[in-house]
Amino acid sequence: MYIIQLAPECAPVAKVGGLGDVVRGLSRELAIRGNAVEVILPKYDTLATGRIWGLAPAYNDLWVPWQDGQIHCTVWFGMAEGVNSYFIEPHGPGRFFERGRIYGEADDDLRFAFFCRAALEFMLKAGKRPDILHVHDWPAALAPVLLYEMYAALGLDRTRVCLTIHNLKHQGVTGPHLLHACGLHRPEYFLHYDRLRDNFHPGAVNLLKGGIVYANAVTTVSPTYAREMRTIENSCGLGHTLDLHAAKLSGVLNGVEYDVWNPETDRHLPAPFSVEHLAAREAAQRALRRRLGLRDGPGPLVMSIGRIDPQKGPHLIRHACALSLELGAQFALLGTATEPGLQEEFGRLAAGLEASPNARLVLRYDEELAHLLYAGADLLVVPSLFEPCGLTQLIALKYGTVPVVRNTGGLADTVFDADYSELPPERRNGYVFNDYDETGLESALRRAVACFREAPGRFRTLQVNGMRCDYSWNQPGGRYVEIYDHIRAR
Ligand code: ADP
Repeated sequence: MYIIQLAPECAPVAKVGGLGDVVRGLSRELAIRGNAVEVILPKYDTLATGRIWGLAPAYNDLWVPWQDGQIHCTVWFGMAEGVNSYFIEPHGPGRFFERGRIYGEADDDLRFAFFCRAALEFMLKAGKRPDILHVHDWPAALAPVLLYEMYAALGLDRTRVCLTIHNLKHQGVTGPHLLHACGLHRPEYFLHYDRLRDNFHPGAVNLLKGGIVYANAVTTVSPTYAREMRTIENSCGLGHTLDLHAAKLSGVLNGVEYDVWNPETDRHLPAPFSVEHLAAREAAQRALRRRLGLRDGPGPLVMSIGRIDPQKGPHLIRHACALSLELGAQFALLGTATEPGLQEEFGRLAAGLEASPNARLVLRYDEELAHLLYAGADLLVVPSLFEPCGLTQLIALKYGTVPVVRNTGGLADTVFDADYSELPPERRNGYVFNDYDETGLESALRRAVACFREAPGRFRTLQVNGMRCDYSWNQPGGRYVEIYDHIRAR
């Protein structure tokens, strides 16, 4: 099969969160299975070009219809750590991808709508006729609309589309000016409730909704989130649309790239370790404590990693820090805030703990430190309000860090409580709580700390159970091939 992935991120060259990891991991898995796979990305000025082999212009003369004229683009090609990747560089005055960051600009709607239009124009002009166009989240969700309303008639009529929703909260809600900008000239038709009209703002265009309506298959990143996102509390206004299109909706759990995340081969660790040589994990823990300026012992070392965002339960992360210290344990955090208020709040907290030998908050993106944290911590807390899949608990499991998570989304599909799970003991791998409040978090974190201290044998069993889980791309890769086969034009 010939598959093109259209996405705003692909690790490691353009990554903000899990979406970037997933696009890379899935692309590599599909290629291993013998498919021809290409990724199309914007050519951001922040692109990690040092990690792209052979980056060079591949198509110099792409003119993309936009507003009332055309924008000249260069399309670059390179191998981004094993993934065939095209990068679209527009030369227009809007400087769409020269903003020093991937998201967060006032004109994100136009920037990514342009990206979709340019990608389809490129496919058309370069003679690319993929069997499958796999689009990710709202920034790529306009592509199926453009494909079926415009480009199918021009020759892209055999391509079928799979949309993956990584986070329903972000939908790309904008005004009808966007339709005009990208050549969808019948506002009354496109602003119909059955197409792109936002379900609650009649004058607004909802790009993710358009993707759901027009895609041939819609997936999200875990079976539990696929169910949750159709409930009133979690549907973010798209519940009715998802119900209408339920027949093409499914949940496929994300995988983890075990050639990147594997304690037996990880070059960021002082020494490899495995289920058979778990004691060697201590070297990573010592190195982590040295690196963070924490004193040796007392355990457990509790950690949190990821975006600091309202979705991730920031007040509960704070509480995990306070409780860890109160219990005489240690706490480490690596993360970047997504809002100025949270940046300030965690900045203050980090400054207040700067001299503590038992807590450290590192507020930046640091891939190397991430590896050491997964390998050297004892517990990972993930107290999310909602979590479509979550990668941090999957990576933690592989490294023998026991996850303490809220019972939601992909966390519920992958972490099974040591005391209360209905699964057999050999499948239990962490601690789970239900209520999104401090008492809920404490109910699990206190049990985890007690197990670490009072029942080390049992704690080791949890670590081993987690390390033996297979959350590689093997199974989800197979599932996606089935979905592609199902929707393919024959
Ligand atoms: P998100 O909601 O951000 O997509 P996920 O759990 O799905 O959350 O994925 C987060 C990914 O980003 C993981 O691979 C995690 O290790 C990584 N990550 C997040 N923040 C940082 C950081 N500050 N430094 C290094 N890696 C990070």
